[in-house]
Amino acid sequence: NDNGTIVSFGEMLIDFVPTQSGVSLAEAPGFLKAPGGAPANVAIAVARLGGRAAFVGKLGEDEFGRMLAGILVENGVSDAGICFDAGARTALAFVTLRADGEREFMFYRNPSADMLLTEAELNIDLIRTAAVFHYGSISLITEPCRSAHLRAMQEAKEAGALLSYDPNLRLPLWPSAKEAREQIMTIWDQADIVKVSDVELEFLTGKDSVEDEVALTLWRPTFKLLLVTLGEKGCKYYTKDFRGAVEAFSVQQVDTTGAGDAFVGALLSKIVEDQSVLEDEKRLRVVLKFANACGAITTTKKGAIPALPNISEALALIEK
Ligand code: ADP
Repeated sequence: NDNGTIVSFGEMLIDFVPTQSGVSLAEAPGFLKAPGGAPANVAIAVARLGGRAAFVGKLGEDEFGRMLAGILVENGVSDAGICFDAGARTALAFVTLRADGEREFMFYRNPSADMLLTEAELNIDLIRTAAVFHYGSISLITEPCRSAHLRAMQEAKEAGALLSYDPNLRLPLWPSAKEAREQIMTIWDQADIVKVSDVELEFLTGKDSVEDEVALTLWRPTFKLLLVTLGEKGCKYYTKDFRGAVEAFSVQQVDTTGAGDAFVGALLSKIVEDQSVLEDEKRLRVVLKFANACGAITTTKKGAIPALPNISEALALIEK
């Protein structure tokens, strides 16, 4: 297609998900290997929906790194921005499924390859082709990938990309909650599009509420669109001229992993087709309905990447 590329920057890893919930890691009867990492999920979400996507990040030169690169390519994501570290391992996460359905993560990052991406390893030519540059916050936690992240952002912005940010808070990875909050609130001063979940909104504002007055305390002058996702309640949107909510689709939820990434990928795939939707509430609502549909479908299947919809699945839910 002729639309611009969505370049997604950050970590890609493997989640080891126990085959039984409500037991400790040591008691798990077995594990499923689930590829993930929010920025990689977003790139695949875009490609599944027919958009052009590239992933920028570093993997270990090991069995898992090769597997993850293969998954990106099989799904139509460009690997031109991927590099491999011969000395470090691919990041791994061990998930505990609690009996109440919540997930807890333990990470192998000692350091993992994604944390070792350097500025010198960036494919600047690729980054400068981005129509949209999407990023999270995990790549900001440590050097050298923090400098690589900031440089990539700056290159994309200078070349005219819209910057899209989903903090994707993984609190246990940060040295402290205070530092997580400060870093997240600083980095998004440069973003055009920001998406937070209800849980992140409450964490960042310290308020036990997702009311508009609370969400709007996050607003920055650079923003073109602020989104708050609310799970089965859909999403809220804020621009400088209008605000509102779009209802979710009613589906049988099995596993919410990746729903937010599907939502972001769907949104970006539409924005890259026509940025003027950001200024037109009626058309933006159509785009957010599409994003809600993609998020909803992702909750109906296990895992993140296997559950991301293609365009016909998304349209089928909307037209149902
Ligand atoms: P995150 O994965 O970032 O926590 P959410 O869980 O809020 O994000 O999900 C993102 C979007 O996916 C929501 O805005 C909604 O449109 C859709 N979604 C998530 N959970 C459900 C659900 N149970 N039923 C229908 N839609 C859902």
